[in-house]
Amino acid sequence: MTESCLPNFSATGEERQFFSTLRLLATALLVSAGLGLTGCASTTERGTVGADRKQLLLISSEQLEQMAAKSYAKLRADAFRQGKLNTDPVLTQRVRAIAARIEPHTAVFRRDAPGWKWEVNVINSNELNAFCMPGGKIVFYAGLIRQLNLSDNEIAVVMGHEISHALREHSREQVSRAIAAQTTIDVGAALLGLGGGAADLANTAYEALVATKFSRVDESEADRLGLELTARAGYDPRAGITLWQKMMKASSSRGSPPEFLSTHPAETNRIQQIESLLPAVMPLYEAARRRG
Ligand SMILES: [Zn+2]
Repeated sequence: MTESCLPNFSATGEERQFFSTLRLLATALLVSAGLGLTGCASTTERGTVGADRKQLLLISSEQLEQMAAKSYAKLRADAFRQGKLNTDPVLTQRVRAIAARIEPHTAVFRRDAPGWKWEVNVINSNELNAFCMPGGKIVFYAGLIRQLNLSDNEIAVVMGHEISHALREHSREQVSRAIAAQTTIDVGAALLGLGGGAADLANTAYEALVATKFSRVDESEADRLGLELTARAGYDPRAGITLWQKMMKASSSRGSPPEFLSTHPAETNRIQQIESLLPAVMPLYEAARRRG
């Protein structure tokens, strides 16, 4: 049985055929809309512990990166206006130095990634959050580091994890699923003579981008790739365990999960997965340490 990257439908054979016809039409529409169809592919190389799941990619990286760059520029400008952008030069320098050490190692998973227009900013806010938008646009909220008293190793684990979402293009995949679903509905309406036709695809893509909530599969992939990046950059991957312990502790003491966990579902078996990956990534960490 081959692995499918298409959205799941629990449907009868007839319905499946109907959906697959619609999907073909949707594909044709996307092509005619000039959306640069990529179809089923894997965004990353295998690495040591990486992922090779096939992904549904209906929108080009370039389109999504343009949208991400715009959203990021707005976020940065808003933070600056509010006097919250990189207010602590020592902290900003610390986070940027960790990113700079990790960035070259992204080549293990994607040759193009070290050449991305990477950007790292720290926003002075109590939010316990961090993210990396498509194309390498990183934000750390100071609250995450200060309130959880994160070590450099723990910051590196968060950084590696967030960068891995971008390397695997999980947002692009989510946008693709949203487009596939919406276009399918609209094609159906068009067939029934209800008008409509091609949807406002750019709008769909934007909404899916800003409201990104990652799936369990995405999280697991980001943990795997992220831990390898952390180790290759010479940061101790065992910090992944203490990081998630701190996250869970913050979650129970606040009475509500940190912002980071609202977009990153917490699971206790996450720590188990990290523990199970340590034998594979510790030698990478030790080799990096020997190289200095
Ligand atoms: Zn994540």
